Amino acid sequence: MSEHDHEHDHDHADADAEAEAEAEVRRRFALAQIRQYGDVALRMTARPVEEFDDDLRRLVERMTALMHDAQGVGLAATQVGVIRRVFVFEPGDDGPRTLVNPVVVERADEAAVDEEGCLSLQGVRVPVERAVSLVLEGKDENGGDVRYDLEGYGARVAQHELDHLDGVLIIDRTDDEHRKEALSVLRPRAVLR
Ligand SMILES: [Zn+2]
Repeated sequence: MSEHDHEHDHDHADADAEAEAEAEVRRRFALAQIRQYGDVALRMTARPVEEFDDDLRRLVERMTALMHDAQGVGLAATQVGVIRRVFVFEPGDDGPRTLVNPVVVERADEAAVDEEGCLSLQGVRVPVERAVSLVLEGKDENGGDVRYDLEGYGARVAQHELDHLDGVLIIDRTDDEHRKEALSVLRPRAVLR
């Protein structure tokens, strides 16, 4: 999931401008390593992780770094071409979290609509309906049990990343009008790949 709603102060010092330019270079470099719309990996159903080994920990480390560099708030393994049930996300201000083999154990009946973006669908933001809260259980990268009781924004990000593990994208979850608009942005790029 991506976040484009940064507030910009137009009175930057040179150092700030330089840091921002560097961040933009890192963002583009990260995005170039994330599978983009049209890539088959984004439509695959991921398989459970079986081994909690160094390969998995390296994958999680790489995904977390990519998520930060790309200025996103979540990234699923399918988005880096690894068809396994793993995602990283940032549900709040307490830093990144990892969820391996996530299972939804509770989901609110109440839903809310808000705009979402996606690191794999650049330039697209569409309204998506999500449950307002959910409880997820799974493992961390070391095989330890984790449980997340999520509400609002955190719950939305987690549902977005869960969808990625089943090959579902935000354009599948929005209304016809927004889907059509999104595809007009995405299609020319998909053809160029
Ligand atoms: Zn996404």
